[in-house]
Amino acid sequence: MYIPYGRQSINEADIQAVVDVLKSDYVTTGPKVSEFERKVADYVGAKYAVAIANGTAALHAACHAAGITEGDEVITTPITFAASANCVLYCGARPVFADIKENTYNIDPEDIKRKITSRTKAIIAVHYSGQPCEMDEIQKIAEEYHLTVIEDAAHALGADYKGRKIGSISDMTTFSFHPVKHITTGEGGMITTNQEELYKKLLLFRTHGITRDEDIMTNNEGDWYYQQLDLGYNYRITDIQCALGISQMNRLDEFVAKRRTLAERYNQAFQNVSDIMIPEQEEGCHNSYHLYVIQIVKKNRKEVFDKLRAAGIGVNVHYIPVYKHPYYQNHGYDEVCCKTAEEFYARAVSLPLYPDLTYEQQDYVIEQVLRVIQEG
Ligand SMILES: *Cc1c(COP(=O)(O)O)cnc(C)c1O
Repeated sequence: MYIPYGRQSINEADIQAVVDVLKSDYVTTGPKVSEFERKVADYVGAKYAVAIANGTAALHAACHAAGITEGDEVITTPITFAASANCVLYCGARPVFADIKENTYNIDPEDIKRKITSRTKAIIAVHYSGQPCEMDEIQKIAEEYHLTVIEDAAHALGADYKGRKIGSISDMTTFSFHPVKHITTGEGGMITTNQEELYKKLLLFRTHGITRDEDIMTNNEGDWYYQQLDLGYNYRITDIQCALGISQMNRLDEFVAKRRTLAERYNQAFQNVSDIMIPEQEEGCHNSYHLYVIQIVKKNRKEVFDKLRAAGIGVNVHYIPVYKHPYYQNHGYDEVCCKTAEEFYARAVSLPLYPDLTYEQQDYVIEQVLRVIQEG
């Protein structure tokens, strides 16, 4: 038996949705793309949504639409998947890392302020593990310094911040539908926004910068005609993927509810264990729990990790601080640039968490964690 840290949940309805598309006229861009976009936009409470090839493309598109370019700086967290910073590099700009908070592992608004320079153009806030960042504070800083706010919500579909769903708050919010995330389309992503101008830029960027929209073309030579107005990419997503996404969206609330129940069971099991630190919740927020991460405070993390892997538990570590990767080290980043991020990285272990994880399997994980901790 091997219990992974995360995995997709695909049922018969999901499979049928994909089969139906395969029998239809459209396998790439067709009606399922806009239906999926509408469904996600309505769910998060955003005016617009653009479905795209993957979560990384979503971040790239958002950075481009924000006008991030050479010479700019963008502040983000080091405790994230590399894509949250790489998207800044794609635009020729420089990611700047602000430290995380000890209790939520999310970017610290105070450190964002310290890292602002005359070159700062945007903030990419990552809702680590599904726990919303302090958006009011971040929004206030953004207003004061005229910055764009992009939320990387790859972990946070279904989470809410002070009564608002993640995806409806900032200039743009990006999602990923990789199989370990809340819903899957195989590969896939989405950007949500309330601003029409950004929406139009995102649409262009997804398809080579090419449009057939007469409202924005400079002229129209006939029905065959289209124009490239910007430099974009082929970042399209297919109807096959979007059909799966629509079907998965019907199950999202159930997925989130199960993740929360599992997280609560872990909390109960570990809250009085002195060698384990469990995640804290910020008031007024509801975590949608992409990850359940504990910190091993006295024992050796590597030993604990190795023993759990040996017991058939697919524990993981999220994340190696982005600036520590050789690529970043070779591009002028300090080896230890964020102190709290370093401490967190040294102690973090992600435990299995996904909708189809059974309570029996979870009890086995809990039992093994407690055993390994007691052994030392
Ligand atoms: C998964 C993830 C991404 C990238 O999404 P893909 O769909 O794999 O490209 C970006 N940021 C974070 C925080 C992620 O977890």
